[in-house]
Amino acid sequence: MAGAAASIRPRRRAAATASEAAAEFLSFVGQTGSPAHTVQQAKQRLEAAGFVQLEDSPPWSLTPGGKYFITKEGTSICAFAVGKAFDQNQGGAVIAAAHTDSPCLKLRPCSKMPKSAGMLQVGVDTYGGGLWHTWFDRPLGVAGKVVVQTAEGMEERLVRVEKPLCLIPNLAIHLLTQKEREGFAPNKEVELQPVLCPPCGLELGGLQKGEKEEKEDKEEKEEGRHHAELLAVVAESVGVKAEEILDVDLCLMDSTPPCRIGAMVSTPRIDNVLSTWAAVDGLIAFTEQKEAFDASTDLLIAASFDHEEVGSRSAAGADSAVLERWLDQSLEALGSSWAQAVSRSFLLSCDCAHGLHPNYVGKHQAQHQPILGKGIVIKTNSNQRYATTPLLAQMVRRLGQLSEVPMQEFSVRNDCPCGSTIGPLLSSQLGIRTVDIGAPQWAMHSCRESAHQDDVQALRDLCKGFFQHFRGVDSSTTAL
Ligand SMILES: [Zn+2]
Repeated sequence: MAGAAASIRPRRRAAATASEAAAEFLSFVGQTGSPAHTVQQAKQRLEAAGFVQLEDSPPWSLTPGGKYFITKEGTSICAFAVGKAFDQNQGGAVIAAAHTDSPCLKLRPCSKMPKSAGMLQVGVDTYGGGLWHTWFDRPLGVAGKVVVQTAEGMEERLVRVEKPLCLIPNLAIHLLTQKEREGFAPNKEVELQPVLCPPCGLELGGLQKGEKEEKEDKEEKEEGRHHAELLAVVAESVGVKAEEILDVDLCLMDSTPPCRIGAMVSTPRIDNVLSTWAAVDGLIAFTEQKEAFDASTDLLIAASFDHEEVGSRSAAGADSAVLERWLDQSLEALGSSWAQAVSRSFLLSCDCAHGLHPNYVGKHQAQHQPILGKGIVIKTNSNQRYATTPLLAQMVRRLGQLSEVPMQEFSVRNDCPCGSTIGPLLSSQLGIRTVDIGAPQWAMHSCRESAHQDDVQALRDLCKGFFQHFRGVDSSTTAL
């Protein structure tokens, strides 16, 4: 339930519009599967809206009214829209930021495993803190990047095979001991390795004992770090020969398409493709409001970073120099500097929140129980797991009011661990005022998550309203 924001009750949104927002989000998330695909989807939408890609090397030439974006490693992205009335003495950087990655199983550098029970298996790493038991019995495809040999050298390309290739089967309940049934905790190294099921991958029975052993010996001696059966499917999808694939960087993904369950959306990667979509789409929607964009004195930014699920420490992660450098370069190109802009700048750190689960109501602190479908959650933590402060939270509640978005509150129970996100990281690195927010969802880090369509729309509306109303809210706020 909303805490201090309970008195602010904006009108409810028309169901048809929330349904349209959910349809747009599902078409976005339905084409992802790896951070590179999240960036690709964002890039396509930005290009369609007239944003121009920048090279990652200074100097940049930016002009008021201009719309740009830049990517890093193909897995992080930052879009800039320069307010038409950009003013170095009045404006700042108004930033909505998210992350592109989600917990998943990733193919190992040497994914070819010896056969077990005549089955081909691929070796995987666990990426991030997934609820790994949810990956069992699901048809799994792959998405990510491949390195291919070209006439000029080597080239990275995207690949996405939605058709299921792998499966991690559960063990029949009759073969589990009572203790194993009570606490299903698969060993991540041994019991989470997928079976590869390409059309010709399984040769069960049919061979005589001697023949079978000879064939298996020969196959296991074959060179290569990945199974030929897997490479053949990937190569076909990229449009090259299998021998031209030098290496792969592949995430396994649930092959079942996203769907709706009433007003709910059910899809993998809601955390945090939803926030990436909302920040990018909110920025695009704001720039399409001509009058408001013409009047803006700010540098408006939607960014999303890779590797949040594993701590953000990488060249493309939020815990790197990359955002500060991009801010320096863009503001310098506009005759300003980050030092000049920082005190007027603000970061809306967007990452999903834990919605109240009807079967586990006691897991939430009694006064902080975000309900699915009831609005965007402001996340606060005294131990700085979130960067929100009371004054900044009140500014965001006011933004919610101006954007007609209901707001709710989250603070974790003292006897529960708390998650964290890029908000505290970027806030401490940049010295920027930051509030952590997000749409409430169920089953965070499951192979399949769920959220309410009203919150999908509310998050995008809040991001759009943030770009539109932040300067007005800031200029009517006095801090100590
Ligand atoms: Zn997240």
